[in-house]
Amino acid sequence: MVRHEELYGAEPDGLWAAPGRVNLIGEHTDYNDGLVLPLALPHTTRAAVSRRAHRRLRLYSAQMPAAGPVDLDLDALTVGAVTGWAAYPAGVAWALREDGHDLGGLDILFDSDVPVGAGLSSSAALEVVTALALSDLFGLGLAPDALARVAQRAENDFAGVPSGILDQMASACCTAGHVLRLDTRDLGMRQVPFAMAREGLRLLVVDTGVRHAHAEGAYAGRRAECETGAAALGVPALRDVPYEGLDEALTRLPDETLRRRVRHVVTENHRVERVSALLDAGRAREIGPLLTAGHASLRDDFEVSCPELDLVVTTATSAGALGARMTGGGFGGSAIVLVDADATEATGKAVLDAFTGVGHHPPRVFEAIPSSGAQRLPM
Ligand code: ADP
Ligand code: MG
Repeated sequence: MVRHEELYGAEPDGLWAAPGRVNLIGEHTDYNDGLVLPLALPHTTRAAVSRRAHRRLRLYSAQMPAAGPVDLDLDALTVGAVTGWAAYPAGVAWALREDGHDLGGLDILFDSDVPVGAGLSSSAALEVVTALALSDLFGLGLAPDALARVAQRAENDFAGVPSGILDQMASACCTAGHVLRLDTRDLGMRQVPFAMAREGLRLLVVDTGVRHAHAEGAYAGRRAECETGAAALGVPALRDVPYEGLDEALTRLPDETLRRRVRHVVTENHRVERVSALLDAGRAREIGPLLTAGHASLRDDFEVSCPELDLVVTTATSAGALGARMTGGGFGGSAIVLVDADATEATGKAVLDAFTGVGHHPPRVFEAIPSSGAQRLPM
């Protein structure tokens, strides 16, 4: 791999890392002011960064070598001016400058082992690592939640990709050995211990390798339906529909599709509450059925799953997994599977066999170990 010094002719001033994530439960709740429960993966995006006298932002990613170093004028970062992968880190510099922070020239080399486009938030890892590096290098002192907000604005407003705050908050704020219980309304958060090893559990990630083309349009469509549902019920967001009052609320909605969308969001919030309560009580072993119920809700009510994700869930649960669900936005990407430690291999094999049995490309299976959020690394 190319070294920072070879590329830019100077040693980096520092090295930073930000992880990808999986969401244990709480899907499509983050743009409904709801609850989510992500954990950081051991997979990270790293940035080696040097401050330079030039007023340019030079970016290179080991994952996008063909794009070469992208060389941007720091003082001419405007919405729409940068396309492709560089829009994510450039968007971070743009958002910080919009907030009035004074940045200087920068040379950045990225490298990553977060699978790209697999629903594991490589985009958030890229943004958050940039935000943390810039905050440290220019003495901005931004707290993790502020880094996440800047990263989200980079993705939404500069790169033009609509997304909630879940991914960036997970990458910025998670801690090792925990899931992050996050209230996306006020960014209230609590680290909930997830002692899988002690309970003889493993959490597997199955990256299906599939990405269905209509994902982005469908995501925007679901968001719009949720807003319509909230307006029809006279609440600021669907998180304000109480679980206990769900049946009554559904009778006030004009059509069946809207009823199903609302039911997913409200029941999913409730599942987050129940999973985090079980984890608090040291009963991680019992969360499996809630994960699988969450998948059924995403598949049937929210309609964001796909045959490959369904295949992971049905195969894994038939093979004895405690629970399984898609994670991330859906229409491809990854699923998670909670298994007994000694069933790890058999479950992984059952999923691989099922995929090859129907002629799918074999998925990538690896373990999700709850890891640290963004941090500065020793050089
Ligand atoms: P996910 O965040 O689930 O991996 P996204 O579609 O949100 O999927 O983000 C993937 C995009 O983020 C890539 O197409 C690329 O533009 C950018 N990206 C992510 N990681 C890297 C990286 N290491 N180097 C360059 N670009 C990256
Ligand atoms: Mg992303």
